[in-house]
Amino acid sequence: MTGPHATAEVMDAVHQHLPPKHDPFIDLVPPQGVRLTPRHYAYLKISEGCNHRCTFCIIPALRGDLVSRPVNEVLAEAQRLKDAGVQELLVISQDTSAYGIDVKYRTEFWEGRPVKTRMTELCEALSSLGIWVRLHYVYPYPHVDEIIPLMVEGKVLPYLDIPFQHANPRILKAMKRPASSEKVLSRIKKWREQCPELTLRSTFIVGFPGETEAEFQELLDFLDEAQLDRVGAFTYSPVEGAVANELGTAIPEEIKEQRLARFMEKQSEISTARLKRKIGQTIEVLVDEIDEEGAIARSMADAPDIDGLVYILEPGDLQVGDRAMVRIEHTDEHDMWGVLVG
Ligand code: SF4
Repeated sequence: MTGPHATAEVMDAVHQHLPPKHDPFIDLVPPQGVRLTPRHYAYLKISEGCNHRCTFCIIPALRGDLVSRPVNEVLAEAQRLKDAGVQELLVISQDTSAYGIDVKYRTEFWEGRPVKTRMTELCEALSSLGIWVRLHYVYPYPHVDEIIPLMVEGKVLPYLDIPFQHANPRILKAMKRPASSEKVLSRIKKWREQCPELTLRSTFIVGFPGETEAEFQELLDFLDEAQLDRVGAFTYSPVEGAVANELGTAIPEEIKEQRLARFMEKQSEISTARLKRKIGQTIEVLVDEIDEEGAIARSMADAPDIDGLVYILEPGDLQVGDRAMVRIEHTDEHDMWGVLVG
């Protein structure tokens, strides 16, 4: 039912099929929207809310269940961003791999062709823009495996931000997270066999209520096995309203901090060793900044703000937003230093 009381809804429905023309005299916002990120990269939000009920998280209570944006709208926004000079799209949501579940993977039309509201099909379509596409917050569903061949073909960046949260089966169950650590490890092994370039970023929680020393040790052992490239870790924080607060004895702050330090120490060794393997390689980078000391760029393995940087000491004519080839000469735990090639 609709009518004059619902002008906005009617216009939204019309604009889904016939986007309004941009009028610089009456529109305050440019056609590509207003962004808080620099001109050469942009976040592309594909959905809101989440159907999972991880016990440490209150996002579903705050934002509700998953609502996916129609894929044609997402793609139209991506096209506008590219037209405005964006070189890298960072696909974000609360749960990127669940994209489209709520609309039963509905087929929409973009530029005259059918596209399913689904992560794999979205990635395929985004790849036609010819710019970097980076996936964030990918929940470890089985169909994530479908994305790896797209990475091998260079359609999306060989980068997965996939929060594993823990490795011990009892803790994962208490967190209401999927997958046993053996399964995760064998999937990581398979992904890397298929796509040796793959960068894996993950996040973990230490000091979950009731976490024993042995369970924490299992997490450290998992890090040794998994050899993840980039890792963020947090001590468990009892957010008001989170079910997990009632699930076991709270771990004293001091122990949580000690565990975090042990965790970070181990991961620091792993990240340093993994990055060192890049010395001597020539890699593509995207320039974020030019200052008096040179250019600051990022490789395909580095998302803005959370990962490392590539420093180029003699940047020549490089401009912000340029892509360039750099030979890596030095690395540390997070960052790389290199020289322009070609
Ligand atoms: S942690 Fe992520 S997947 Fe789990 S409920 Fe929160 S938003 Fe959803």
